[in-house]
Amino acid sequence: MNVADSEVVASILSPYYFITDSLYEADLILLNTCSVRDNAEQRIRKRLRELVSLKKKNKNLLIGLLGCMAERIKEQLLDEEKILDFIAGPDAYRALPELIEKASLGVVSFNVHLSEEETYDDIDPVRYASNGVSAFISIMRGCNNFCSYCVVPYTRGRERSRDPKTILSEAQTLFEKGFREVTLLGQNVNSYCWKTTEKNIDFAELTEQIALISPLLRVRYATSHPKDISDKLLLNMAKYPNVCHYIHLPVQSGSNAVLKKMNRIYTREYYLERIRKIKEILPHCALSTDVIAGFCGETEQDHQDTLALMREVGYEYAFMFKYSVREGTIAAEKFEDDVSEELKIKRLEEIIALQQQLSLESNKKDIGKTVTVLVEGVSKRSDKHLFGRNPQNKVCVFPKKNYKIGDYVEVKILSCTAGTLIEQ
Ligand code: SAH
Ligand code: SF4
Repeated sequence: MNVADSEVVASILSPYYFITDSLYEADLILLNTCSVRDNAEQRIRKRLRELVSLKKKNKNLLIGLLGCMAERIKEQLLDEEKILDFIAGPDAYRALPELIEKASLGVVSFNVHLSEEETYDDIDPVRYASNGVSAFISIMRGCNNFCSYCVVPYTRGRERSRDPKTILSEAQTLFEKGFREVTLLGQNVNSYCWKTTEKNIDFAELTEQIALISPLLRVRYATSHPKDISDKLLLNMAKYPNVCHYIHLPVQSGSNAVLKKMNRIYTREYYLERIRKIKEILPHCALSTDVIAGFCGETEQDHQDTLALMREVGYEYAFMFKYSVREGTIAAEKFEDDVSEELKIKRLEEIIALQQQLSLESNKKDIGKTVTVLVEGVSKRSDKHLFGRNPQNKVCVFPKKNYKIGDYVEVKILSCTAGTLIEQ
């Protein structure tokens, strides 16, 4: 999501600045931040300390902080981090030229106003760090779910969907420029809804319209909230082979008591029923998830329930975190953070070890299969090999031959690791 936001910022500032790879050349450095977990904020604090010497060397250098952290700690941040010239929250990027101008006159300022409408829908993002093949398209912003541990609704504001016309034209332009994969982004894409006087467009319809641009354009999306993943969407995915059969469906916990405390709205049984439906409609669909270890009040049995659910689903991949208290959230105010750090780490390690095993088992099942891979680039390990992903989002490495980046290639899988499918 932050990559997509940075591309919007690059577009807003393109009349005034060009992008450089070298920090030493820069007259403006922007740090786009995330507040979801405490360690993301700590990394930014460290980065700011590293920039102090640059600022001493270049008197014209301006440093600005963008995104969720700007939203969360505003004035306190300007007070604590003297190196900052301005800060802008996630809905204030259009005000950047003004903030930068003030900063160049020596006026330190911030804009963290949260909007109910801003979707940056008319802005054509500058794909400055792209491989020319895959791009993110932001289709909505904010979140209304208020999971009790999560800071996102406070830092990114209310949920709002972007006009589908602008999403479609962005996808069409990307395809014409040679891109072959778009990932539709939002905190909760399944609740996408664009209301017009004639009819409402939901996420299943939006995905369908994008899939129809060309069978050569792969469509992915993230993130799905289990409460709104509809049969209609699954049936549409089955109809269009270019909508990739891969779903990221964060579960967070396998225990009903913990899910309730997290305010996730669904139960373990409901979640497993959705998984059963996905497997019925899309038998080759890959599944990934997010898991939080050590949430307030989590017992050993709750943790075991999470491990058992992971085994039952057999996820291809997971993003795994230990719970960190976020100030201002419901959990921070109402519940005690009573699982010790030691126990959180132990449980997280068990979750990670299990997922490694599940990923490896899943990859082993692909040995002998031929999969269609969209070529993304040269393998990091060997310049004689390329890499790309199959529709299930698994990274595949294979000999270069005459293939080019952006080609679709049939790859026969001969071996694997937990993270990669390999054709020697
Ligand atoms: N909107 C997405 C996820 C957004 S944040 C969803 O609902 O699934 C990405 C992930 O960070 C979450 O799914 C959750 O697993 C994790 N996360 C959020 N807040 C956290 C916290 N306070 N401590 C640890 N992990 C957290
Ligand atoms: Fe956070 Fe929950 Fe919204 Fe995801 S759905 S962003 S976890 S509040």
